Amino acid sequence: MDMNADVAIRVGAALGIFAAMALWELLAPRRAWSVGRAPRWPSNLGVLLLDVVLVRLLFPVAAVGVAVIAAQRGWGLLNITPWPPVPEALLGFLALDLAIYAQHVAFHKVPLLWRLHRMHHADLDIDVTTGLRFHPIEIVLSMLFKMAVVVLIGVPAVAVIAFEVVLNATSMFNHSNATMPLWLDRIVRLLTVTPDMHRVHHSILRRETDSNFGFNLPWWDRLFGTYRAEPEAGHQAMTIGLPVFRDSRELRLDRLVTQPFRNDAHPLADETSGPR
Ligand SMILES: [Zn+2]
Ligand SMILES: [Zn+2]
Repeated sequence: MDMNADVAIRVGAALGIFAAMALWELLAPRRAWSVGRAPRWPSNLGVLLLDVVLVRLLFPVAAVGVAVIAAQRGWGLLNITPWPPVPEALLGFLALDLAIYAQHVAFHKVPLLWRLHRMHHADLDIDVTTGLRFHPIEIVLSMLFKMAVVVLIGVPAVAVIAFEVVLNATSMFNHSNATMPLWLDRIVRLLTVTPDMHRVHHSILRRETDSNFGFNLPWWDRLFGTYRAEPEAGHQAMTIGLPVFRDSRELRLDRLVTQPFRNDAHPLADETSGPR
């Protein structure tokens, strides 16, 4: 597949899913807003733009390019022996998803990584744009990690493209503030992470934040004991965000970018202290 077709598929799929989720949230919202769209959307989409530009500048070859090189040179576990294409692609997809689950756990457990990832959690509401709100350094580290996994496992290029398109779509889906009938949630939750399942992960309670790490396949959480079915306070009453960074000024784009470098105990101290 040539690069232009690859980009067209990604951008087209992303815009389509974004529009569908935004419409769903508008027609059937799950929760009342705490601060709403206006203070959040420009920053959440602004940080996405920074991420896209940074990745374009830093990585002349994307993860899919690495997959093509690995296949040509015979690198990676799956390239040791020939595989039929479909099982090879499925195994590659599964391996990438497990790796991203493990990476997400690491971003919570390692203090330096948590400094980067907590920006995703500091959003005071959760909706489709929260699924796109990640610190640029987290995105770069995540891309390097994904490339390493692609080389080590020998993930085929088609599985890398499918994984990135699906992960992008499920992230927008499972962050959306959309109401899904409970019976449908129970069925869909067996196959992919639903909005009700991921919302638990955005709870202000740390024990709930440290659960439901899956972005895509819901099975790893059940397998490794990090699954929580519901938030303790219920979906309507639960508080979204972190105990810190609750000032609405923290939703500004510049505050999102500088958040990892600031002390979370006094997040606004640098603006409010000093001579007056
Ligand atoms: Zn997280
Ligand atoms: Zn999230």
